[in-house]
Amino acid sequence: MRFYQATTFLFPRSYERRLLFVCFGAVHVPLIACIVLQATTGHWQLDTLLTLLVATLVGTGLGLAAIHALLAPIAQATTMLQSIQMGERIPLIPQGADDLVGRLLTGVTTAAHENAARIERLVDAAERDPLTGIRNRRGFLDSAKQILRGRSNAVLALIDIDHFKRINDECGHDVGDLVLKALARRIEDHVRRSDVAARWGGEEFAVLLPDTTLDEARLVMERLRATVALDTNLGVEDRAVTFSCGLASVRDFALLEDATKHADAALYAAKHGGRNRVHVLRP
Ligand code: GH3
Ligand code: MG
Ligand code: MG
Repeated sequence: MRFYQATTFLFPRSYERRLLFVCFGAVHVPLIACIVLQATTGHWQLDTLLTLLVATLVGTGLGLAAIHALLAPIAQATTMLQSIQMGERIPLIPQGADDLVGRLLTGVTTAAHENAARIERLVDAAERDPLTGIRNRRGFLDSAKQILRGRSNAVLALIDIDHFKRINDECGHDVGDLVLKALARRIEDHVRRSDVAARWGGEEFAVLLPDTTLDEARLVMERLRATVALDTNLGVEDRAVTFSCGLASVRDFALLEDATKHADAALYAAKHGGRNRVHVLRP
């Protein structure tokens, strides 16, 4: 470490050049020794000197090229570590031999895997609703962004449990929580794998149905509404839990906020129409 630090003045920003410089100097030692010997004895043997000079130059060229190539995995590992620090994914890390560089690459591989797993856990925690286990609003928007990229006919459904406050007031907050969990499960089980379901907040849920027309989405939500209204295992004894739903089409992620307002307006209309119904706001 001391030699490393003492030589930093040579090429402060390039370890590789420092190494090459040291090798360059070392390779020239025999040539310099030969010149010094011949100068002190006064016996100049030009053919020997010339041969040694050419051999030194060829050796230097080959040596520098080989060292440059041997340092390549270290340079690569450094770049990969920088990417890992930035939270980027490393698709493929080369394997090294059972030596210093190999151990360095194994270390980078371990760091990359651990970092990727940690980021995945953090993203999952940030995007999942802890009560119901389904996506939260952030997770919904993240998935919607990917889904709506380049797609044009999706439908946004906003679901709001009817008179949920009453359930809380009359049966307790814990029962309210059970209903939220059960409904989240029903919604997830009912929609397709390509649909995105999320807890929008409080007792509201959102579903994004890609490649779906308003009529198709209405059928899907109507079926869910009817199933839930008849379900006696939603957590509240002797009482049906119903929800109202508003639908609006969404053509682009940039227009999702508008679609949310439209779906909200449709939901409002469903509530005012008597609740336990699906309302569509046609563009
Ligand atoms: P409406 O039919 O008009 O939608 O009436 P509502 O009673 O469902 O609506 P309101 O907005 O008056 O009440 C929603 C209630 O949801 C109030 C709030 O305490 C409850 N709530 C929100 N989040 C949670 C939760 O995580 N757990 C429980 N148990 N209740 C919640
Ligand atoms: Mg509400
Ligand atoms: Mg409600």
